[in-house]
Amino acid sequence: MLHSNLSINNKGHLCLAGQDVCTLAKSYGTPVFLMDEERIRHNARTYIDAMREFMPEGSKPLLASKSCCFKKLYEIIKEEGMATDLVSPGELYTAKAAGFPLENAYFHGNNKTDSDIEYAIDSGVGYFIVDNREELDAIERIAEKKGITQKILLRLSPGIDPHTQKKISTGKVDSKFGTAIETGQALELCRYTLSLENVSLKGFHCHIGSQIFEYESFADAAEIMLRFIKELRDTLSFTTEVLNLGGGFGVRYTDADPVIDYRENIKGLAGVIDRLCCDLDIKKPAILMEPGRSIVADSGLTVYSVGSVKTITGYKSYVSIDGGMPDNPRYALYESDYTCLIANKADKKPDLVATIAGRCCESGDLIQEDVALVTPERGDYLAVLVTGAYNYSMASNYNRIPRPPVVMLKNGESYVAVKRETYEDLIRNDM
Ligand SMILES: *Cc1c(COP(=O)(O)O)cnc(C)c1O
Repeated sequence: MLHSNLSINNKGHLCLAGQDVCTLAKSYGTPVFLMDEERIRHNARTYIDAMREFMPEGSKPLLASKSCCFKKLYEIIKEEGMATDLVSPGELYTAKAAGFPLENAYFHGNNKTDSDIEYAIDSGVGYFIVDNREELDAIERIAEKKGITQKILLRLSPGIDPHTQKKISTGKVDSKFGTAIETGQALELCRYTLSLENVSLKGFHCHIGSQIFEYESFADAAEIMLRFIKELRDTLSFTTEVLNLGGGFGVRYTDADPVIDYRENIKGLAGVIDRLCCDLDIKKPAILMEPGRSIVADSGLTVYSVGSVKTITGYKSYVSIDGGMPDNPRYALYESDYTCLIANKADKKPDLVATIAGRCCESGDLIQEDVALVTPERGDYLAVLVTGAYNYSMASNYNRIPRPPVVMLKNGESYVAVKRETYEDLIRNDM
């Protein structure tokens, strides 16, 4: 099947991590997010080991928290020795509550408020990834008040469009993120940063986009960043310790996506970085990467119950499920591709082309259009594969629909990592 943790058992049921998805759906209810703990650990180790083996000393991956964020996940990556990036004080709060060592956390975000900055400094966050001059001034002021020196990286835009979707291409010059190298503004910002007393500049960050299946785009970004690092050494005598190349290795959502070997790609990228540092005659910085989806996406799938099959004569068929854009807004947002199948008829041949519709009062509430399915009946289970990233973390309560639980599978057993929301949860803050 699409990934090695998926299979079909002798009842014709879909299995994740060897466990019958239909049995799990029956006992936990639907919709439900299932996640394979061992797959998360395996993906984390793949990055940690390859970066340690092939890249300069100190190189390591950070989990991009936005891809999936709950306490148990931080406990898992902490055990694997993985660091993390955080984009908001809410993610920070979650990591802290999980006992995650915050000196291994990198605080992102293009508009950190003064109170976010205070909270992160008070919590002992290791590094700030600074987006702009105003933020830099605020960190300097708050760090001075607290009598500390805050380690930072500056987020720069290398001006690369890795030819992915526009909405997830963020390294171009015209972007809300970071400071452009091409315009000379990055150099000016560095000069300014080095004049400040309470921030300590350790290096630079860039992020060129997501769903990148070949390391060449990262190599292009690395080249621009390393040339800039050389320029800084030559003009400001500044030595860069850390280069963070952001997130973005791709994940196989459907058969149309290529298979990707992360270890080989990291090795290839490391080779290019080595050569560039040699040619440019600069000290090799430690490399950081920020994988999100490639750590968690293929660990997860979502199970829904089918309510109806509506065939509009002469047009098309809609299969309605008991979830939708509140638990997976990605099709509505970016027309993301997913693989869908009827989990209790996984061994049968598809005989229907249908659009999967959610339960919200919104015609754009679709999970996927025109997919081949076995014709389902009311009560059948529909599985959407590879939903471990950007599903739970993007879930909302639109239409006052409670968020599904996250159920973790491990060693033939299962446990609840995040409880299903209740109606009481929905009105908790209503006065
Ligand atoms: C989104 C994002 C990531 C993670 O991207 P993936 O495609 O999930 O790997 C990492 N870093 C930054 C700055 C991001 O915006």
